[in-house]
Amino acid sequence: MTMEHFNEVSINMNEKVFIDGELKESTKASVSVFDHGLLYGDGVFEGIRVYNGRIFKLREHIKRLYDNARAILIDIPMSPDDMEKAVEETLKQNRKSDGYIRLIVTRGKGSMGLDPSSCKKPSVIIIVTDIQLYPRELYEQGIAIVTASSRRVAHDALDPRIKSLNYLNNVMAKAEAARAGCLEAVMLNAQGYVAECTADNIFIVKNGVLMTPPPHHGALDGITMRTVMEIARESDIDYQFQPLTRYDLYTADECFMTGTGAEIMPVTEIDARKIGDGKPGEVTRSLVEAFRSLA
Ligand code: PMP
Repeated sequence: MTMEHFNEVSINMNEKVFIDGELKESTKASVSVFDHGLLYGDGVFEGIRVYNGRIFKLREHIKRLYDNARAILIDIPMSPDDMEKAVEETLKQNRKSDGYIRLIVTRGKGSMGLDPSSCKKPSVIIIVTDIQLYPRELYEQGIAIVTASSRRVAHDALDPRIKSLNYLNNVMAKAEAARAGCLEAVMLNAQGYVAECTADNIFIVKNGVLMTPPPHHGALDGITMRTVMEIARESDIDYQFQPLTRYDLYTADECFMTGTGAEIMPVTEIDARKIGDGKPGEVTRSLVEAFRSLA
């Protein structure tokens, strides 16, 4: 598989996009050039999966969206219940049984300065589209990743739990991964501790215990991460938030990343070091299997 293959994107002109209370054809759905979401990355978003016509963890995604909006002083102009209905209706209109939902709230149109008070009404956008998945065989083989030099924003600058529209550090880290011939990169925080991958949380398994960096170390409070913890609890696997260094990654028994798009992806090589025996480990495999039965 080449990077080009993975990055191919299909744009379906028949998709219907929800924008500020209306469903429009995707080619006619647009935001103002004065929207602070565009001008300053001022907004929040969610990525959600649809499996067999079922929206996976919709409540959890909507809760995170509203918490994030509250944290950045955006008052979403509809209730969480109405948001849920709007997401369901947009999915229905797009007649997709498997796909991806992108839910976006921007600060809205305002004047050219940063002042958010010039933006009178946040915009709500719901896109239902296809998802570009990792090829199936990678879940059997695992992937190689590298450490990126682009760091996560410090938690005291912007809380990493806020899934904001500003992903520039992560975009740069993703570009570094591609330059190294990898599909993903691991990002460190300002102190050099492991934070997460560019769009996924990272876990290691050491002596049978699952460990992932805590949010204040630069990790998003991932919904897939929380799902993995639930599976672990039910399977009597110990898990904990744990500050991790690159040494911990290199010497882990197993490693995997979690995210809405990737689900649970084994990581078998980091910065040219083989993880464990270089194959997806037993704990990772059992989690992948358990996750698939939920999704
Ligand atoms: N970290 C980052 C930076 C992300 O953007 C995402 C979402 N793709 C994740 C982790 C994983 O979160 P979730 O499981 O909620 O998709």
